[in-house]
Amino acid sequence: MILDGKTLSDKIKSDIKSKVKNYLIKPTLAVIQIGNDEASNIYINSKRKACENVGINFIHAKFDEDTNEQEIINRIIELNNDSYVNGILIQLPIPKKFDTYKLLNLINKNKDVDGLTDINMGLLFKDNNNLIPCTPQGIIKLLEEYNIDLLGKHAVVVGKSNLVGKPLAMLLLQNGATVTICHSKTVDLKQYTKQADILICAVGKKDLITKDMVKENVVVVDVGINRVDGKLYGDVDFENIKDIASYITPVPGGVGPMTVAMLLSNVLKNYEKNL
Ligand code: NAP
Repeated sequence: MILDGKTLSDKIKSDIKSKVKNYLIKPTLAVIQIGNDEASNIYINSKRKACENVGINFIHAKFDEDTNEQEIINRIIELNNDSYVNGILIQLPIPKKFDTYKLLNLINKNKDVDGLTDINMGLLFKDNNNLIPCTPQGIIKLLEEYNIDLLGKHAVVVGKSNLVGKPLAMLLLQNGATVTICHSKTVDLKQYTKQADILICAVGKKDLITKDMVKENVVVVDVGINRVDGKLYGDVDFENIKDIASYITPVPGGVGPMTVAMLLSNVLKNYEKNL
């Protein structure tokens, strides 16, 4: 069965839209962009469209690569202090000459809608969630929607990034799963993926997960985005695994739309906290 992230995200966005309609002052998301990365332009555009569709104001604070760091710091502080701004994110990656870690951590923890500041990451590790990174949050929502129980299940996460793998592993633990995290240094990936009741792959390598690497009735969540000849693929060999899996996300139409929906949801959550 397909885990249809597109349909669920449409439902979530429509709920957000009906709520926002009732507010005289609209919630606001600010996206900080440094440089002119092509993929970032596409992602920012889709965030802008998603905001516009539900009635959330969108601020695009764009800086070119030559900008003095202090100018960017000043802008983050200004957005932190602006009571009309409910969410701030820095579109990653940023040019190497800037300190991502330092800039991210300047964002007020209650406006950190990507959930990437040390404080929000730390709270997640202590089961005291504040704002949770959007992709892992979207994955858990999608599993919940299909009543996929995580309690006591063996969840194998492939990929250990701060953006996806690690926060996702924490959320799975919070939901009572037994979690294995695999990464590029894992020896014999297959021996772990074969044991998974729930297999989540967030690597960025087309066809990393093949039919022989999964067991019957596994639940597969494919986070990967790989562009080949203008077409999008995940990390999982969807065509050959879809009949073995009990549930599987497609790419596109699985995790991607959920990520955007969770971003809007984090902005609204923070807005409503301050009503
Ligand atoms: P990342 O920071 O590059 O992390 C990739 C992870 O994969 C790393 O932990 C790396 O291990 C691991 N890895 C690399 N090669 C491996 C291999 N052969 N076997 C096992 N693990 C391996 O990437 P990310 O930001 O987490 O994103 C991962 C993928 O998800 C990308 O395709 C990205 O575009 C996509 N993504 C999608 C969404 C969405 O909304 N759908 C959101 C975010 C990301 P090491 O740590 O050991 O290097």
